[in-house]
Amino acid sequence: MGGEELWLVTEPATLRGADPGEAFAQVRDILLRRLAEVPDGCEVIAVEVALPGVVLRDHGQLEYAADLPWTNFPIREQIREVLTEAGISGIHVGVANDGRFAGLYATRSELRLPPSSVAVYIGGLSGIASGVIVNGNIFGGAYGVAGDLAHSNAARGETECWCGRHGCLTTVLGPEALLSRSGLMSLEDAHRAVADDAWACLEQLRSEAAAGNEQVLTALAEAGSALGGVIDDVLGLLNPHAAILGGYVGVLSPYLRSTMDARLSQRLSDPAFAATLVVSLEADEPRVVRGAATAARDACLADPLSLTRPISRA
Ligand SMILES: [Zn+2]
Repeated sequence: MGGEELWLVTEPATLRGADPGEAFAQVRDILLRRLAEVPDGCEVIAVEVALPGVVLRDHGQLEYAADLPWTNFPIREQIREVLTEAGISGIHVGVANDGRFAGLYATRSELRLPPSSVAVYIGGLSGIASGVIVNGNIFGGAYGVAGDLAHSNAARGETECWCGRHGCLTTVLGPEALLSRSGLMSLEDAHRAVADDAWACLEQLRSEAAAGNEQVLTALAEAGSALGGVIDDVLGLLNPHAAILGGYVGVLSPYLRSTMDARLSQRLSDPAFAATLVVSLEADEPRVVRGAATAARDACLADPLSLTRPISRA
């Protein structure tokens, strides 16, 4: 609760393509094992779960995700059942899209924007993840799914996106699109490569760009221009204090920024928008998990009585 990070662990699990029940059994096993390791004197007081895809935060439900075997999955209830099994009940359990948590952490802890700030975040790793932060909190809109920029209409409807639309930002800026448009591999191979090791794909793009591979630089420049168009629209719509590039978008930003900034120059020359912070975070920070921790702490602070214990009358 004091904001001190006690520990951070990474535990790989392959959920893609698994049977839904078997996939959750893996999550359950990991969670039970980790809960058993909580040291004496420490107590679990809130849990937040970050997921890719369309997550209804208010309902605690995952609608669908490209990389997970679950659809219309009541993840919050399932996690609560595991906690009960471990003897933990009555605590806050929240779920949200991973990009929203990353945006929360970038806004609150990395940029330390004032509490009343509005910010838009775009990052991700195996796909574009994004979010809108309003007054220091994740902005969900009417049904909890606001903040999706991955499927913005950015590329004049040319290429079909996996979501079924044409011309989404994902079809130009998504990691698979970048790999195939760069001529480094076919789109089919890119799907496999990103699923196997998205970090290695990012490293390949970065090293080819650094080596001056013309086709890679062109693909990145085109992606930067599409991204600039999307951010320009968002600036007009929200007039945020900051637009933040993180995740793989931040890592590749040195190769995206010149065409992106060109698309933003007209808007930013307007005095009303001139103070907008357009910032690239190139560092490899575990933003999603730290953003989830921030949201968990917020949930406790919003309901402090939940942390109290009845006074004994004995
Ligand atoms: Zn799409």
